[in-house]
Amino acid sequence: MQVAPSLHRLGNGLINSYLVEEAGQVTIIDAGVPGYWGDIPAELAAMGRSIEDVRAIVLTHGHSDHIGFAERMRRERHTPVQVHELDAALARGEVPNPAKGLGPTRIGPLVRFMVYGGLRGGLRNRPLGEVVTFGDGATLDVPGSPRVILTPGHTPGSAALYVPSRDALFVGDALATYAVTTGEEGPRVAPFTADADEAVRSLARIENVDARWVLPGHGEAWTGGVAEAVRLVRERAAAPRG
Ligand SMILES: [Zn+2]
Repeated sequence: MQVAPSLHRLGNGLINSYLVEEAGQVTIIDAGVPGYWGDIPAELAAMGRSIEDVRAIVLTHGHSDHIGFAERMRRERHTPVQVHELDAALARGEVPNPAKGLGPTRIGPLVRFMVYGGLRGGLRNRPLGEVVTFGDGATLDVPGSPRVILTPGHTPGSAALYVPSRDALFVGDALATYAVTTGEEGPRVAPFTADADEAVRSLARIENVDARWVLPGHGEAWTGGVAEAVRLVRERAAAPRG
């Protein structure tokens, strides 16, 4: 679906993969689950583009529900897949997921997430055979020229990607606008986070970014400003759970 001009999303909002077009070329940001592979041609066609126009996949982090179809595309299309150097081993499946359990859950939303992912091959995610790594502060030489802002906590190499020409900040799971484990809406620390305190501290690195579109890995786009999203995450993180 179209989020904004030259900015599309695969999936229904539970697990997001984004397509960003600039000057006729496309970068895919996060690769969701393997089953999204079949949705790519139609989504690109809706952008007036084709698979030939995809130049790169950039991952916000190395979790399995973000690497989705990346290895297939890398093998079949020779599309380079980029990730922060601190998450490269995770993306290649060489280290276990650093997440510290689920946190609070509600059975309905959690089952919905598992079934949605499972039906789309979420249990058959193939780790990357090869990745290109980047560091904090880099401007990537791919369509949209995303600027890397390292936001460790969810994973050590979690990175937000700022695309000024599209007024968009892709935050990955540095924050979520929907908790797949409880069904709660609104900006919050994402479930499956390795170090929640560090994740909250890292938000200081993005809070002054001026972007109309805040695009999370899970949940709907946030258009209330980056600073307000960050404020709400901090507020929720500080509140005792009742
Ligand atoms: Zn994640």
